[in-house]
Amino acid sequence: EVRFEQVTKRFGGLAVDHVDCTIAAGSFVALVGGSGAGKSTLLRMVNRLVEPDEGRITIGGRDVGEGAAPLLRRRIGYVFQSIGLMPHMSVAENIALPPRIAGASAPDVAELLAMVELPADYAGRRPDALSGGERQRVGVARALATGAKLMLLDEPFGALDPVTRDAIGRRYRNLHDRLGLTSIMVTHDMAEALLLADRVLVMAKGRIVADATPTEMLSGRAGPEADALVAVPA
Ligand code: ATP
Ligand code: MG
Repeated sequence: EVRFEQVTKRFGGLAVDHVDCTIAAGSFVALVGGSGAGKSTLLRMVNRLVEPDEGRITIGGRDVGEGAAPLLRRRIGYVFQSIGLMPHMSVAENIALPPRIAGASAPDVAELLAMVELPADYAGRRPDALSGGERQRVGVARALATGAKLMLLDEPFGALDPVTRDAIGRRYRNLHDRLGLTSIMVTHDMAEALLLADRVLVMAKGRIVADATPTEMLSGRAGPEADALVAVPA
């Protein structure tokens, strides 16, 4: 379980404004909202890429900002919008990087590639010899390499064409279910959120303005902010 309590971040103005929210273990939550709404900032505070000004975030009851928390944070997977694979390293070296940095044992690269449904012989390739969708999958494998059960995904499939994006999204959802992950995924795409997530959080101006299941969103029961995004007629 991930719990946000009065979590606030200012960059001049309020980027995230006293957010209270609890995300159940094992759930798949989509975080949607306009540009500048505070989605990435909220996500990045979970693994302390951004330090909150106020409030606290706990994972399974443990504060991610406290003394022993670096160990906790190392077990959070993070998939960046830009993926950020090291171009001069092979796929295998890229996947092995997070555990190496964390001083953990080397991951089973073949197993991780199998998890994201890539052939084992991709291990020796450089990222530039992969398609965009394949690179995204390597990004997911790398995020899983430290044994992460909590996955933070910031527009993970944003750069892909709609067909590939759909396929990769569904693959990721299967993986989420199979591994019993907890996933928080930022996306601009409401259709993707409705398709993949158990629960959709809508952010605007640093606040969560709607919080509902896809079914509630589609039936117009999630409030005006959500209706505007799913184009439910008034
Ligand atoms: P997008 O959909 O465009 O990625 P977002 O919802 O992820 O938007 P954030 O990146 O969280 O939005 O930004 C929220 C606000 O905080 C914006 O006004 C942004 O300009 C500001 N902001 C974010 N990061 C920083 C930073 N490092 N320094 C200063 N301001 C920042
Ligand atoms: Mg963002």
